[in-house]
Order: sequence, then C-alpha cells, then structure tokens
Amino acid sequence: MGAGEHPSDRTVTAYVAIGANLGAASAAVLQAMVALDGLPLTRVTRRSSLYQTRALSNEDGVEREAAGPDYINAVVELETGLTAPALLDQLQQLEQSAGRERPYRNAPRTLDLDLLLYGRASIHSARLIVPHPRMTQRAFVLLPLAEIAPALVPQTQRDAVADQTIQRLD
Ligand code: ATP
Ligand code: CA
Ligand code: CA
Repeated sequence: MGAGEHPSDRTVTAYVAIGANLGAASAAVLQAMVALDGLPLTRVTRRSSLYQTRALSNEDGVEREAAGPDYINAVVELETGLTAPALLDQLQQLEQSAGRERPYRNAPRTLDLDLLLYGRASIHSARLIVPHPRMTQRAFVLLPLAEIAPALVPQTQRDAVADQTIQRLD
C-alpha cells in the first residue's frame, strides 16, 4: 500500500475475469493484473494461474467452440473502494487502453475484463449484471476462480463444466 493510502472499512472483495486471445495474450493478461493493482482505491489480493482454452462463442445462450486463436484466461481478487459501476468504468478503460475494438460480439480481443462478483451484491442495471450471468457455464472462469477462492465454487458447478477443455499453464 502506498503512502497516504489507508484500508477503509468500506472496501469490497471483488473478482474479475481476465481474457485475451490476440497478439501476446499471456503478456496482456499479466499486464492487466498489474494495471488492476494500479487502479484507484484498489489492490489485487490474489491472482490465479493462467489458463489456456479454445475460443467459445455464445450466440444463443449455448457455449460453442468458435474460430480464432486460443484464449488465455485468469481471475483476480480485488479489494476495492470503488463502487461497482466505477469499477466497470475502470475495467472498460483498461480494455480500451489495451487497444480493444468491438467489431462484433465474441470477436477475438486483446483484452476482456468481466466483473464476476462484487461482494455479495446482486446488480441488474442496463450496463452491469453481477454476478456475471454466464460465469457458471464457463470452465475458464470457474477453474481460476476456484483456485483463488475455492469456497465460491461448489463442486456441483465444477462438475457441470468438467467436459470443457482447459489447460492450466505454469
Ligand atoms: P460475455 O459477457 O458473455 O463474457 P463479452 O465479455 O464478450 O461477453 P462484452 O462485449 O465485453 O461481452 O461486453 C458487453 C457489455 O456487457 C458491456 O458493454 C457491459 O456494459 C456489459 N456487462 C454487463 N454485466 C457485466 C459484467 N458483470 N462485467 C462486464 N461487463 C458487463
Ligand atoms: Ca467475457
Ligand atoms: Ca466483457
């Protein structure tokens, strides 16, 4: 913690999924972890290993393999004094600085930052739904999340994604 910053009793534990599949994807994910730790009022308190998965698309609520390079994914735990909408703003700014374009939904991207959980909050606004509605369908979210916060991922959820191909990198 830097000079002049003090832990506040108003911080929230949040979990952010990081994904990249264009260019130097592993470097982009590691760089995003550093950038998240540098956000205002925010510290990264845990970080998962990197995981490699096939690209998926979700056009109709069903996850299917899609064209494009493999993804590198990870999850980090944050301790943050930001509100959930302010945190989403920051995540979107980091995506933009990583050069993200949105030509179409599920397009390959240099960086994707999804807010999975924000404390115990349940949020349903036009631009933010928390818990992330598709997190329980995705091995690339559940496995790294379980690595750093096992109590948050019940065995039944892990079993439900056990058929998805995913490789933990060291
Ligand atoms: P998916 O959400 O299925 O992982 P995606 O990450 O490819 O798909 P994006 O194009 O990155 O989708 O985001 C679309 C919109 O989702 C964003 O503009 C944002 O407002 C909204 N959104 C809603 N809930 C969340 C959340 N929990 N985390 C990040 N973005 C969210
Ligand atoms: Ca996503
Ligand atoms: Ca996203």
